Parts: sequence; structure tokens; C-alpha cells
Amino acid sequence: MANGTKYFIGNWKMFGIPSSFKIIERIQSYFIADKRNNNKYKIIIAPPFNLIQDFSKRLKKRGILISTQNCFHKDNFGAYTGNISPFMIKKMGINYTIIGHSENRALGENEKKLEEKVYNALRNKLNIIFCIGENMIEKKNNRTMVVLKSQISRVLKKKYNFKKILIAYEPIWSIGSGKVPSDTELKKILIFLKKFVKKKFGVRYNPRIIYGGSVDKKNINNFKSIDELDGFLIGGASKSSKNFIDIIRKFYK
Ligand code: PEP
Repeated sequence: MANGTKYFIGNWKMFGIPSSFKIIERIQSYFIADKRNNNKYKIIIAPPFNLIQDFSKRLKKRGILISTQNCFHKDNFGAYTGNISPFMIKKMGINYTIIGHSENRALGENEKKLEEKVYNALRNKLNIIFCIGENMIEKKNNRTMVVLKSQISRVLKKKYNFKKILIAYEPIWSIGSGKVPSDTELKKILIFLKKFVKKKFGVRYNPRIIYGGSVDKKNINNFKSIDELDGFLIGGASKSSKNFIDIIRKFYK
């Protein structure tokens, strides 16, 4: 069984209307009633922007945290139709944002923008869930470590407080595909990434790294023995309270 506080982060993507709050309510009831928790894990849900303010108000001081799924790369206010800055997110009372999800990268989000996003999010004291991951071709060509190193090096900086950054290793070939890396494969990558971040940025503690990609109640047992794993970013399975709770329940069984 893995040690330390774990993160179970639900990424709802383009899903949710106001009544979807009932999903969070059920997860919250489980979280509050789970006597075995005792700060063993944190739950963060990332609904789309239409629900952020309402959900976060309704959840105040009740265990579950809310994250945005992205933020704009420019800060403060400005003539940027349809966008929401890190400053605006922070002012909504939100403390987490996902940055660099592969679905956004695929839509043209480049590393220059990601660099600005991380910089401005940290400036506003947001915690960041920074997504990295290789695609299937890169994996087949044994380029996984090279790709991950480059994704980290081009965006993160030595001056940053890595306690505010959760790195989410999300292989693109695994997202929504039902495929997950083997436990030995994942362990190797996590050890490599932790070592790399410590050396490159002079971080003296273990940076936190979570895994995302097709995590569900059927495969959660595969991850239990990986001590280096600090939690999970869960897409599809986070849209059902039952599936999400089952993942946590099984993980701690
Ligand atoms: C994700 O999109 O971050 C994700 C992990 O999705 P899924 O769990 O559906 O693969």
C-alpha cells in the first residue's frame, strides 16, 4: 500500500450542468463518512467553468476542493473574449487549476503559452496540476523519458515553489482508451521523473506526481503497490459518483 497523502482529482472535461452537483454531494458524503481517511487523501473536482463559482460556494469548508480545467495565459483583465485569467480564478475562491492537458495541447496550446499560464497561476497563488505525457508513437520509439523531460524543462522553472505544483503524468495513449501502463513501467517513470525534477530544479523533497489515463475501479488495484505515486487524475470515471467512490474504496481496501 502506497504511503503519504494521495490526491484523487476528477476532471469532468466538457460535462456538467447545475444539477450535476448531486454527483459531488454523494462523493462528499462518502468523504466525510470515511473514518479511515484521516487526511490520507484529498479530493479535488474540476468541473467546467459554468459550474465553478456555484459549486465552490456550495462546498465551502466541506472537504472537497474545486479546480478549474485550464486558465488563460494572460493575467488580470483584458480584451480576450471568452477567456478567464488566473487572477479571476483566484478571486472566485479557487485554489487549483489544471494546466497543459493533452486535449488542450492538441487544440494548439503551445509550450510558450503553458509557460505563461504556470507563471501567472503561481503569481496568483494557485496550485497547479501540470499535465505531461507521451503519445503512442513516442512510446514505441522509446522516447518517453526524452519527451517528459522536455515538457517539464520548457515550462517549469527553478524559482518555482514545487509544493504548489502537482505533476500529472498522463500518457496520451492511455487517456480514454482503457489502456494503462504496467505497474513496473509506471514505477520506473515516476522514479525517473522525481529524480529529474529534484536534480534539475534543486528541489530537496520529493515532488508530487500523480497518474492519469483510464483509471477506473477495475484497474485501481494495479496501482496500489507503487509507493512513488501521489494520486490520480481521473477523467471518465469521475463523472459518476459511484465509480469515483469505488476507486477510492478499492484503493484503500
Ligand atoms: C484525463 O482526461 O485527464 C483522463 C485521465 O481521462 P480518462 O480517465 O478518461 O482516461
